[in-house]
Amino acid sequence: MNRVGVFLGKYVIPEEREYYQVRNPADTSEVVGEFPLMMREDVKRAMEEAEKGFQSWSNMLPVQRANVLYRAANLIESRASQMAELLTREEGKTLQDSMFEVTRTVNLLRFYAGLITSKTGKVIPSQDPRTTLLTFREPLGVVGVITPWNFPLSLPAWKIVPALATGNSVVWKPASITPAVGTEFVKALYDAGLPEGVLNTVLGPGSTVGDEMTSSKFDALTFTGSLEVGREVARKMGGKFVRLQLELGGKNATILSRKGKLSLAIEHVVRAAFGLTGQACTATSRFLVPRELHDEVVTKLVERTKRLTVGNGLTKGVDVGPLASREQYEKVLSYIKVGKEEGAKLVLGGEPIKEHERGYFVQPTIFDQVTPEMRIAREEIFGPVLSVMTYEGMDQAIEIVNGTEYGLVAEIVTDDITEAVEFSRNAKVGVVKVNKPTTGLEPWVPYGGVKGSGNDVYKEMGEEALDFFTRYKAVYVGY
Ligand code: NAP
Repeated sequence: MNRVGVFLGKYVIPEEREYYQVRNPADTSEVVGEFPLMMREDVKRAMEEAEKGFQSWSNMLPVQRANVLYRAANLIESRASQMAELLTREEGKTLQDSMFEVTRTVNLLRFYAGLITSKTGKVIPSQDPRTTLLTFREPLGVVGVITPWNFPLSLPAWKIVPALATGNSVVWKPASITPAVGTEFVKALYDAGLPEGVLNTVLGPGSTVGDEMTSSKFDALTFTGSLEVGREVARKMGGKFVRLQLELGGKNATILSRKGKLSLAIEHVVRAAFGLTGQACTATSRFLVPRELHDEVVTKLVERTKRLTVGNGLTKGVDVGPLASREQYEKVLSYIKVGKEEGAKLVLGGEPIKEHERGYFVQPTIFDQVTPEMRIAREEIFGPVLSVMTYEGMDQAIEIVNGTEYGLVAEIVTDDITEAVEFSRNAKVGVVKVNKPTTGLEPWVPYGGVKGSGNDVYKEMGEEALDFFTRYKAVYVGY
């Protein structure tokens, strides 16, 4: 039995807990590992350990914390291929995409290690010649982190790394179905010299362990997941005076402008709609094309999508892996049924892939003649399903882009700079891409959704991420 433990102060394999199996979504006969099914009281224990860890960690110099992060980056880099393989085996994405997550995690560690030694506070001129005004940037304390399964390594890293860099300690609940690579991430941090108790993990269902996290008195809580669960978290946290960050779903669109390159738009849409099996918050799920270009676009889009290879992410040459779980698989198939019932025209895919009977594989699926009021054009499907929609003028295209309750990412494919700037101003989203696919984020710029895609108070990544995890204290020094 391959039992994997958790971090409660230090690495432990809790004997008193039941264990559950994590299976490979590309081949469910393969058990990736057995993980402890933790209980509500474990959250309390993790918080106590984190309180202790905070005392030592927050008093270390920024340069000492930075050195731990730099060492962790080096260790993860040296373990990159094992970690990427583990990620693919538990989540399903291709090895190349897993490697990308590993690299991004290394970059995040180095980026925040560098930042934290310089972004500590300011000196501000006073109106009084015998006074100096200072600001200190202080950590908040114990931060709760709840994350989804679709980026089980780099997404937790873009929360945990700035939290640690700024001197906080952390209790992290990873998604139940993808705890394996995250465990390796935490191990690397401890191997790099993180003091005991600074980063703790609790595994178990959202309905118990997750619920307990949102009932507990953290100094701040950062959550990424679905709009539905995000609403529930916001409701529960509403009465507490605790900093809350919510990053939620998306219904992202790519617009092909009349002034843009058709072939480029198709490459981007195929990559961002079907790459990562459509299981990215930034995935393209709506493709808006000028009415008169519709027939040519659909023909070329279908022809290009047919060339994708679907299969086990560990196999060389595979472009699209499985859905991550049975729940995901059933949800995607049910949306395909909804699309057909709503009258959208299925032009590609729409079926499970029979020859991969032990995995959760669904064909890349394209619906044409989708209209804005259809559910498949409004709701997040989170799978390899693309809706093609048409528009007349750019005003209408922007209205369609902005016409869902989400606001995460939008792309315009255009060679017209004025159109690109106007679109960037008018799209109600957190991230605009001009001639760049909706998927693919760089860690040095702020990221976050608006409307139903997030509570839009603090950004993640970039220098801006430091703001969520710190508070400023003003100090007046008279002399
Ligand atoms: P989810 O069902 O909302 O779950 C997210 C996390 O919350 C998981 O750890 C889950 O635990 C936990 N959870 C579930 N119910 C809870 C509750 N009542 N209280 C507290 N925690 C609870 O989302 P998911 O299916 O894992 O992930 C997909 C979603 O994440 C999509 O909507 C996607 O767009 C979004 N996402 C957004 C971003 C972004 O940056 N905006 C990035 C990635 C993904 P269990 O795993 O145990 O259920």
